[in-house]
Amino acid sequence: MNIHEYQAKELLRHYGVAVLAGHVAWTAEEAEAAAAKLSGPVYVVKAQIHAGGRGAGHFADDPAGKGGVRLARSPEEARKIAGQMLGHTLVTKQTGPAGRKVHRVYIEQGCDIARELYLSFLVDRDSGRVAMMASREGGMEIEEVAAHHPEKILTVTIDPASGFSSFHARKLAYGLGLAAKEIGAFGRFAQALYRAFVELDCGIIEINPLVVTGGGEVVALDAKISFDDNALFRHPDLEKLRDEDEEDPKEREAARHSLNYVALDGTIGCMVNGAGLAMATMDIIKLYGAAPANFLDVGGGATKERVTAAFKIILSDPHVEGILVNIFGGIMRCDVIAEGVVAAAREVALSVPLVVRLEGTNVQLGKEILAKSGLPIIAADNLADAAEKVVNAVKEAA
Ligand code: ADP
Ligand code: MG
Repeated sequence: MNIHEYQAKELLRHYGVAVLAGHVAWTAEEAEAAAAKLSGPVYVVKAQIHAGGRGAGHFADDPAGKGGVRLARSPEEARKIAGQMLGHTLVTKQTGPAGRKVHRVYIEQGCDIARELYLSFLVDRDSGRVAMMASREGGMEIEEVAAHHPEKILTVTIDPASGFSSFHARKLAYGLGLAAKEIGAFGRFAQALYRAFVELDCGIIEINPLVVTGGGEVVALDAKISFDDNALFRHPDLEKLRDEDEEDPKEREAARHSLNYVALDGTIGCMVNGAGLAMATMDIIKLYGAAPANFLDVGGGATKERVTAAFKIILSDPHVEGILVNIFGGIMRCDVIAEGVVAAAREVALSVPLVVRLEGTNVQLGKEILAKSGLPIIAADNLADAAEKVVNAVKEAA
């Protein structure tokens, strides 16, 4: 689960991480009042969406205009800028061309920036530890730095048994070229951030930029937090930070039915049991020249109800031009799946070609149920056959 910058900063403030004063605003009037509570002379109006690159982005109705992070010289100007952001769609490198509608802005104290650095903590699966990464190239997308100048990224990993120590911070501080008097502030900052990372069960905390101010202070100017979904049950209070406007409604509906669904941008909807088989199915669709509209693992215990829910979610995606159901009946029986598919196809009034490949327990019974249903279901014998048939059926339908 991701949260907004202002929510991340509120959490981090609580852990003693240095952040600037600021207030969230939902209307232009609130933005003006929020700025009036801060000590000027410069205020920053920051569009709150779950995507980075806001500063360099643009609004969809004003392609040549300014981005989602703008300076204001007075509370009145903050009000004007907030009015130009709220209700408008911000397009950044990370949102894709569709952009995201801005529903809230963060009004933050202006900062006297001397240096912009990068600092993050993340779970490093290779070492099985928390990694702390830093770079002098703050403000830039770290993926770009990693691609072109990997030597500019400094990493230390932290042994979970001994935890964070000042040694870790010092190592990065030297690499970042911090002045002697800044090293202490950086150490306290990193230590507090590590504690937040561990206690909140984060997957990543990214501070980009981490700023050294003219006065030698170390401050988080941006903050991105992503929580480990599998640990959210331990943090019921974090659930209220969820912003459903930022989540794909199909993925939300899938979560309600315990379906592992990830929306993608192809045209072939997939319904598969088992994550590995689902990955293989997506690969083979590509091999036959089309692209999957989604990843969907209905799981081992798929019931008729879950199969129906999965179908509805797949069909609610306007890009879906065909569906491939690929089920291996191991624990599941193929006849149960076939009944679910038939019931679901009837209930949702199927409008696109449907190819079904069943294999495993009671496969003959399952195939008979499909054949007798009277529905235009295309049966397939194996993975390649199924992929070829669905790609061809979509071509013919078009
Ligand atoms: P994004 O990463 O989405 O573009 P940031 O919060 O990193 O958004 O802001 C982009 C840039 O705007 C920063 O790199 C920094 O130069 C500037 N900026 C952000 N917040 C402030 C602030 N409070 N005061 C001064 N400049 C800021
Ligand atoms: Mg940033």
